Amino acid sequence: MSKHIFVTGGVVSSLGKGLTSAAIGLLLERRGLRVRMQKLDPYINVDPGTMSPYQHGEVYVLDDGAETDLDLGHYERFTNSELSRDSNFTTGRIYQTVINKERRGEYLGNTVQVVPHITNEIKAAVRKLDDPQVDVVITELGGTVGDIEGLPFLEAIRQIPLDIGRQNCLFIHLTLIPFLKAAGEAKTKPTQHSVGQLRQIGIQPDILIVRTERELGRENAEKIALFCNVEKNAVIEEPDKEFSIYEVPLGLVENGLDQLIVDKLGLQARPIDMSEWQGLLHKVRNPEHEVTIAVVGKYIQHKDAYKSIYEALDHAGIAHSARVLVKRIESEELEGQGAESVLSGVDGILVPGGFGMRGIEGKIDAIRYARLCEVPFFGICLGMQCAVIEFARDVLDLKDANSTEFAADTPHPVICLLNDQKKVIDMGASMRLGAQVCLLEPGTRAAECYDAERVSERHRHRYEFNPEYRSRFVEAGMRVSGASPDGGLVEIVELADHPWFLAVQFHPEFKSKPNRAHPLFSGFIEAALAHHQQRLQMTL
Ligand code: GLN
Repeated sequence: MSKHIFVTGGVVSSLGKGLTSAAIGLLLERRGLRVRMQKLDPYINVDPGTMSPYQHGEVYVLDDGAETDLDLGHYERFTNSELSRDSNFTTGRIYQTVINKERRGEYLGNTVQVVPHITNEIKAAVRKLDDPQVDVVITELGGTVGDIEGLPFLEAIRQIPLDIGRQNCLFIHLTLIPFLKAAGEAKTKPTQHSVGQLRQIGIQPDILIVRTERELGRENAEKIALFCNVEKNAVIEEPDKEFSIYEVPLGLVENGLDQLIVDKLGLQARPIDMSEWQGLLHKVRNPEHEVTIAVVGKYIQHKDAYKSIYEALDHAGIAHSARVLVKRIESEELEGQGAESVLSGVDGILVPGGFGMRGIEGKIDAIRYARLCEVPFFGICLGMQCAVIEFARDVLDLKDANSTEFAADTPHPVICLLNDQKKVIDMGASMRLGAQVCLLEPGTRAAECYDAERVSERHRHRYEFNPEYRSRFVEAGMRVSGASPDGGLVEIVELADHPWFLAVQFHPEFKSKPNRAHPLFSGFIEAALAHHQQRLQMTL
């Protein structure tokens, strides 16, 4: 039977609960254990697919097409846990299931209530990951203890030890110990209150992970242990890491977290081996090169809106011993100031995915600049669609070319809805989603980067390259280097007469890992490094 770890958060949000949960998964895997990861989100949206990136950051897409919380990105980057639709549940999804059952008469005339019907459904969602092949299931609960909407989830996880035995469950609570400059000391009261709230519900945390700005000191740790009713050695400090998120797991090992978990759950585990991770951190700390990449997008202000893209750029940097400096550019600003003044001096330009009309012309300007000035360019999803529009307007001379997403009556719909999307009415989970096979054209840059003929990548879009225009693009020099197996859908385009100009309809950023950079990101950073060298030589 699988054992269960529950990670809750207290005091404030944005403590890095997702990252800490992923780090716990990583530590357990490094001890030879098999792990599954899951996130429970108390909001009412059925999934985050319909949420604005401004509110919730990026929507992370899985192979099976599930649109999930971005914390699942941390899980995939840090662990080998297989993720699926069952790895992310929201209040909305739980209620939807319960209400559907009620309509089918499955409750046999009973009054349907939060306890036990909603809580039973939550417990079933957690227990779905039980598997003889899995040693530990780690379930992260979104939100902060004390939120009204989180209560049914806390009640459900309170009950799980009654079903499977307290010794098979571990409650880890992540909190903040603020340092008050005026008082000159760290304050433990908010943590005491947060744990107090958990205990009122009936959950006694076994381990406290306390986020700190300054070192806590043993005295404070012991005080927290006493007031929160946890063992002294179960107060684990997790100080802010200014340098890199890759330091988090190493810090937790140093503070004994992996051993504590193994002991408390009575797991059979080998000694920890963090050498690969240490090697990675060494590379991050000691880069030999540096490149500047402009990311030209619409949701630039939100630090998490393109989370996986920033991560994938870092991974590619690690692969090439380079520090990647990201210049975040609001595409609308570029429309006013002109591409040259904003983009001169960058080594590569990346236009990420997105929705809606705002900022499109700025993205197109950035792409034109990259194409004409031979700056390496990487377009992703909407970024590819903009590259197609730019080429149509400037090279094919189709002046009003556009996507029907932005101009329904454009005379040249080079990007458009294909038939199966035209029927779609519901906005939720109705895009072309998840893993799709893409066949690569031998001899192209894409095939060279992947060193393969057949790849699988994750999608999340409604609009497509319009096949009616395909031959005109190809004749004018835009190659189709990747397409769906039936040849009908254009998945990758590139320019042969450019140092590196490649754009993809899918989201490669979702499959990049710190120790396994995605081949296209790696190729892009390699080209950016070459561009950087060239620029240096020109200024000599
Ligand atoms: N808005 C575009 C579409 O729906 C691109 C989507 C994206 O970039 N993820 O096709």
